[in-house]
Amino acid sequence: SNIKKMETTVGRHRRVIMFPLPYQGHVNPMFQLANLLYSKGFSITIFHTNFNKPKTSNYPHFTFRFILDNDPHDERYANLPLQGMGAFSRIFLFNKCGADQLRHQLELELSAKDEPPVSCLITDASWHFTQSVADSLNLPRLVLRTSSLFCFLIYASIPLLDDLGYFNLSDNTATPLLDGLGYNNVPDDERLEEQVAEFPVLKVKDVIKIGFKKDNDGMGDIISNMVKQTKASSGVIWNSFKELEQLQLETIRRDIPAPCFLIPFAKHFTTASSSLLDQDRSFFPWLDQQPRNSVVYISFGSVAQVEEKHFMEMVHGLVDSKQSFLWVVRPGFVSGSTWLEPVPDGFPGERGRIVKWAPQQEVLGHEAIGAFWTHSGWNSTVESVCEGVPMICSPFWGDQPLDARYVSDAWKVGVYLENGWKREEITNAIRRVMADEEMRERSRALKQKLDASMIEGGSSYESVESLVDYISSF
Ligand code: UDP
Repeated sequence: SNIKKMETTVGRHRRVIMFPLPYQGHVNPMFQLANLLYSKGFSITIFHTNFNKPKTSNYPHFTFRFILDNDPHDERYANLPLQGMGAFSRIFLFNKCGADQLRHQLELELSAKDEPPVSCLITDASWHFTQSVADSLNLPRLVLRTSSLFCFLIYASIPLLDDLGYFNLSDNTATPLLDGLGYNNVPDDERLEEQVAEFPVLKVKDVIKIGFKKDNDGMGDIISNMVKQTKASSGVIWNSFKELEQLQLETIRRDIPAPCFLIPFAKHFTTASSSLLDQDRSFFPWLDQQPRNSVVYISFGSVAQVEEKHFMEMVHGLVDSKQSFLWVVRPGFVSGSTWLEPVPDGFPGERGRIVKWAPQQEVLGHEAIGAFWTHSGWNSTVESVCEGVPMICSPFWGDQPLDARYVSDAWKVGVYLENGWKREEITNAIRRVMADEEMRERSRALKQKLDASMIEGGSSYESVESLVDYISSF
């Protein structure tokens, strides 16, 4: 390990400590950023929890430290749920109890003699407790925000939206956060289709679908503290690019005094090595044989779940569309099933392939893929934009309904299935997106803008350079 240490630290005079939130959609961009900073000469130390711990063997060049939940006798963390919505309880708990342990570990790092000096701490925006710890040690803290700039602006406006009464509308609906049903259950109120005056691209129902509830286990606290401590940070790194969110960037620059860096990570590294699940590659020979733009890729990310009856609407919608498809059905995606128990005999047949988890970015970059049916998670959205693939959007909650609205109404590179799981609408949306050459062209044009931003002098290129300069200046 001495040799390893030499390889990792020789010529590396500065170290960055990075602390991801332990969920797939947050781990991926943090490791993409870590790879990027490593490639720019920084030494990398990753703080991580035992829960959803990264595959450290994929990163022999990084140093890893367990923090927070690695003591099996610590009763605070012993019996937390591993799956579903309950798994997120860690965010509340670690933010509440994590400060002392984090300070202790940071003090060890700051005084370590055999490691390069620490330039800064980079944490996920949702680790809001880390700002005051970093402040107390005079250590600059940068934030990685893994959603869109637009989402940040909306989240920062939750008190305003609350004053307008939108969340009282949502109180009537009493929808469980993750059942993907929000929009089937909302009351038949004409306000739902109205535009939000402050954010004209949004409809009132999009705001409701965020799923914010005043009394919901501190979700409101997490969001407001996330916003507050992001504004207090020394800089914010976004998985985005300037040409995609120009107006939002201008607004955010008035709101956040620290510099913002917009970097489309998928253009630098794939997420293969930070995947928490094993990626199935066995379908590639099949995919290779499919005609150009002929296959629908379907994935709803690492968390979302549907009820069986809605899953069956998806199955029938797909069959009736008569399109070929590659479908990622994560074990546990259908609530009450371990995997594929509900599917009828003979499905998927010759026209489709089903896998548990895929190398998503590589799939999206495959020329056989013609559309991406997505839950509109931000990573998935950016990955799709990076590959110029038009989308069919079925968002569940949080930032997803905001992303879906933007994809369909602002960038016009997708269709928003905004009436829930109805097989005819699914069939129509799939057919429409697969046949819409203008939408395909807009997706391609957006990708070209992104590609141009990566070239020397382009906005994304300059963002990386200025981030490296900025960290080096500490
Ligand atoms: N992903 C993957 N294989 C799959 C499905 C998803 O590697 O079969 C990756 C995807 O590329 C993305 C992440 O998992 O980087 C999902 O993040 P996203 O923000 O889209 O959704 P979340 O899982 O946070 O809801």
